[in-house]
Amino acid sequence: MKVSPTYERDLEIHLHGPGPSDVPGEVLRAISMTTLGHLDSEFIRIMDETQAMLRMLYQTENRMTIPISGTGSSGMETLVANLIEPQDRVMVVKNGVFGGRIADEVSRFGAEVVPIDLEWGTVVTPDEVREAFSRKSCQALFLVHAETSTGAHQQHMKEIGEVVHQNGALFLVDTVTSLGGTEVKIDEWGIDAAYSGTQKCLSVPPGLSPITLNERAMEKLRGRKVRSWYFDLGMIEKYWNEGHQRKYHHTAPVNMIYALHEGLRLALEEGFEARFQRHRRNAATLQAGLETLGFTYIVRKQDQRLPMLHAVYLPEGAEEGKLWGEIRSSYHIEIGGGLGKFSGRAWRIGLMGHSSTEDKVYRLLNAIGEVFEKYGLVGDRAAGVQGAKAIYKDARRLR
Ligand SMILES: *Cc1c(COP(=O)(O)O)cnc(C)c1O
Repeated sequence: MKVSPTYERDLEIHLHGPGPSDVPGEVLRAISMTTLGHLDSEFIRIMDETQAMLRMLYQTENRMTIPISGTGSSGMETLVANLIEPQDRVMVVKNGVFGGRIADEVSRFGAEVVPIDLEWGTVVTPDEVREAFSRKSCQALFLVHAETSTGAHQQHMKEIGEVVHQNGALFLVDTVTSLGGTEVKIDEWGIDAAYSGTQKCLSVPPGLSPITLNERAMEKLRGRKVRSWYFDLGMIEKYWNEGHQRKYHHTAPVNMIYALHEGLRLALEEGFEARFQRHRRNAATLQAGLETLGFTYIVRKQDQRLPMLHAVYLPEGAEEGKLWGEIRSSYHIEIGGGLGKFSGRAWRIGLMGHSSTEDKVYRLLNAIGEVFEKYGLVGDRAAGVQGAKAIYKDARRLR
């Protein structure tokens, strides 16, 4: 078998799907640095800084704020394995694919799932959560802050956190798509534990899951044999033991932690608020262009739409697969197809992290405009770009 070197392959792509997003050159440089030992003192300094920056981004004082070795789903599994016991009842908000996954995960660990089933593309209200608790007591509520399958942005996080705590339960949140692209306020919202991923708005390759747990959550796992060896936070915390003796648990994915360190450093340098504004500004521009081209949003309410993920129905008569393939092959742009019940009818267009720039929005709209014209879906290929440019001045002022 003759295989050409990986680094000689032609891998040109612009990532505009639901993750991964485009990785900046600085991060790619960081990941190609010399691999250090996982207990090397220089590496430990990188770990300490990574934790400090993660706490800033998560807006939390939580000591237990670390990247788990594995993709975003490993963070979900860590929370469930450590915080949920077989006799527990867990309320899960199901308004898309990822809420459904959490429910599956919780049931695999033997707990009873109490679902709040909602129409896809909507979010839960504090009253709905209150009402659900009045029907059945639960030990935890799980919800997805940014539902990547529908583009729904959960609102009223603080109020929901209050309802959860009034009922003596833990507030557990999936922030995989939101972290780094919009505000996530762990302490202010009363979130007891959350997880994220590196390949969405942090623009780091997939492979790590930043998590954060407060002391209230950590209490749940103390003195108990957690049902997962690999994700046992009681053991893992002895390795991420700032200022103390570090105990080997598993070999940290050293180069991936370099990458996360650099991705976080870039976010810090840009300024978190400036970064979130950039996501909102480019979202408004893309939305204007997509609507001009005849797309409609799955999420009907404007204030519940995510800036980093645009889940949109294609215009009437559009052949989804053909258009998608042409955008990939002729323009080297990857966009996401519809998930679950939206398969074949919708696209999920990502503007995550480094993929969210004004130039990239226009490139995207130009590509879609050209294939739409070719298949007779629009009269003028430039319509989308013009629609976007028309609101660009206003978008600049968007806060
Ligand atoms: C991508 C995603 C996940 C899963 O992350 P992986 O890195 O693919 O394991 C979980 N939740 C949400 C909301 C996501 O968008």
